Formats: sequence, structure tokens, C-alpha cells
Amino acid sequence: MTRLDGNALAGDLADLFHVDLTTALARCAGCGHAGEIATAVVYASPMGRVMRCSTCDDVLGVFVSADGRTWFGLPGVSSIELSTESP
Ligand SMILES: [Zn+2]
Repeated sequence: MTRLDGNALAGDLADLFHVDLTTALARCAGCGHAGEIATAVVYASPMGRVMRCSTCDDVLGVFVSADGRTWFGLPGVSSIELSTESP
């Protein structure tokens, strides 16, 4: 399993939401830490990717793709904060 940062999920998130969510703030339901998704810890394997909190290591989300379909869940994210202003 390869350890990466949240930027490794840029393609998964863009495919699902059609926006760059790596700069969005995800709040961990476990410890309350809010950080950019790009700074989360990601473990990648051929089976999928697991996103973990960079502070407490709780699972924030999971992504699995196979046969042209994607399954994802964000069981450890209590909120996602997006900027609605243009850069
Ligand atoms: Zn946490």
C-alpha cells in the first residue's frame, strides 16, 4: 500500500463532483480538525484509496473504482467547506 497526500484524490473527486475539492476544508468527525483535503493522508492500493485525518488518523473517506463504476463514502467527515468566490 502506498502512502500519499490528499492530492492523490484530485482525479477521483473531480470525476465525482466536477470541481477541485482538494482545497476544500474537510472537518474530521473524530477530532474536529478541519484541513484542506490535499493535506489528508491517503493510502492507495489496487483495491482503492483510503483518506485519513492528518491529526488523529481516523478514516475520513474511502474510494473504490472498478468496471467503470465508483463507490465512495465519507463516514469520518462531518462537513466540507467550499469557497464560492473565484480566485
Ligand atoms: Zn481527526
